[in-house]
Amino acid sequence: MGRDAAAQAQPPWHLRCPHCGLPALPTWRKLLLGPAGRTPCRRCGLAVGVAAVPAVLAMLPSLAVVAMALTGAGRRPWLLVAAALLAVLTTTVLHLISVPLVPRQLTDAAAVRRARSTTGTGL
Ligand SMILES: [Zn+2]
Repeated sequence: MGRDAAAQAQPPWHLRCPHCGLPALPTWRKLLLGPAGRTPCRRCGLAVGVAAVPAVLAMLPSLAVVAMALTGAGRRPWLLVAAALLAVLTTTVLHLISVPLVPRQLTDAAAVRRARSTTGTGL
């Protein structure tokens, strides 16, 4: 029951560990996690990463701005700056809400048990 209450307190951006089901990362850490990156879950210690395809798709707005800059749309710098800001915002939001965490190693049942047994304290 305590775990359900903790689950409801979670923000909507997929921070749940695919191994133990507990909050695996702070929001800022997920933002820094690229498609090839991996980091240990802060609860069970098993490696997690972001799903590669959605993570790459989330980068498309930013890549489009880079393409704009390279193809000469930079003749209007204010437009490029505005597009860059919009793209960074869009990429951030997409990365948070549409990119799930995935396991980057086999789930170790003992580690998951340990992580869950230490969450009875209401965290
Ligand atoms: Zn975990």
